[in-house]
Amino acid sequence: MTNRELKKAGLKKTLPRKKILAILEKSANQHLSAEDIYQILRDQHEDIGLATIYRVLAQFEISGLVKRRNFEGGSAVFELDQGEHHDHFVCLACGQVVEFSDALIEKQQLIIANKFGFKTEDHKLIIYGTCRKCQKSLGKQP
Ligand SMILES: [Zn+2]
Ligand SMILES: [Zn+2]
Repeated sequence: MTNRELKKAGLKKTLPRKKILAILEKSANQHLSAEDIYQILRDQHEDIGLATIYRVLAQFEISGLVKRRNFEGGSAVFELDQGEHHDHFVCLACGQVVEFSDALIEKQQLIIANKFGFKTEDHKLIIYGTCRKCQKSLGKQP
């Protein structure tokens, strides 16, 4: 699958590209920064430098394999572009990213856009807050 995806994106199979794509596909955390990927590669005893990782991620982004997300208070994270629209919760304490999609919110945005005479193309909804785990450790249980 990895190789086919690379070919589809018009990219030659190089070791760094294959390794980085495999990490993005297999990681439990679907929103990884370049530093996260660097750390995982190091744990796998792969000698791939941060500069190479940044370059590969930029190539992946241009070819539509990944989406770059710039959340506040952290470095850019990358996720595989699965084609499905979704929005994000971001924990301001630990940086955890949770995906969600809600039909009602999507519909409501179209209703508002219509009211303003706006034809929509795309949107990004990011809700910042504190995840459940951090609420507990901060002693602020709801
Ligand atoms: Zn948190
Ligand atoms: Zn996402």
